[in-house]
Amino acid sequence: MKKNNKKKSYSRRKLIGGALGLAGFGAIVSGGFLRPLKSMLGRWPDLPDTERMPALFVGHGTPMSAIRPNQWTQTWAELGPKLPKPSAILSISAHWITEGGAMVTASEAPAMNYDMYGFPPELYQIRYPSPGHPGLAADIADKLSSKVPVEGDSRWGLDHATWVVLKYMFPRADVPVLQLSIDYSRPPAFHYELGKYLQFLRTKGVLIVGSGNIVHNLRIRPGMNNDQPYDWALEFDHTMWTRIQEGNFQAVADFQKLGNAASLSHPTYDHFLPLLYCLGVKTDADQITTFNDNFQWPAVSMRSLMIA
Ligand code: ZN
Repeated sequence: MKKNNKKKSYSRRKLIGGALGLAGFGAIVSGGFLRPLKSMLGRWPDLPDTERMPALFVGHGTPMSAIRPNQWTQTWAELGPKLPKPSAILSISAHWITEGGAMVTASEAPAMNYDMYGFPPELYQIRYPSPGHPGLAADIADKLSSKVPVEGDSRWGLDHATWVVLKYMFPRADVPVLQLSIDYSRPPAFHYELGKYLQFLRTKGVLIVGSGNIVHNLRIRPGMNNDQPYDWALEFDHTMWTRIQEGNFQAVADFQKLGNAASLSHPTYDHFLPLLYCLGVKTDADQITTFNDNFQWPAVSMRSLMIA
């Protein structure tokens, strides 16, 4: 048995404010409502076995998409009805970052988390009232526990990386939605390996959605390059997509070896890590295809992946 991680209090970073330059990076909000997930094991009936569900990596871009439909939201809206109806959705959001362990949302009715600042009031009126699934949260925590300590949380709810996308993809909000946080104290390759432990969900009807961006540098504002993607952004996006097509996921996890193109594409790499979970849940029988493969801003790639 591995020793338990000694860090007891998990911390969270609200990253979008920092990334947009509206608040300091790394504002820490500590604590949370921790739930004893083990006690929930077995209290909910197992989800029945299903055909293997697709998995998605979605480039989410600006939260404004929730109130300003655009070419990317149109794709999300068209994709949802084509997917088998999931028994539940597990979102791995670039905006839920923890340290020293992971958390999984475990409330029966996840709250809306408006984890962004300085946007029009109507954005804070958006509702996505999907149910949660505490029993599935317990299953997930149990499955991951040999790799990372996972605790249930009933405070975080659904953040904008989740609801901006699901609002279009599953507008009825009638499928239970859970979020899994990302333990930022682990190296990138760890997240690829951890993703493999989530494969079991796909034959339980669960749709896994990683929500981030393959290129994500908001320190470079729109309009600074006439809205044309920067060469280094195109290079990084193209290189990652090539490695993915080659099945060279280790090289994707080692993205920092690309030097300047990597550090410019990800001054912090919270938006890259959800991709690694999605590559981890791929089986040998899956193909990977891409959609929304263009840029929203000069340094924000919207390239998204379907694993099926
Ligand atoms: Zn984001």
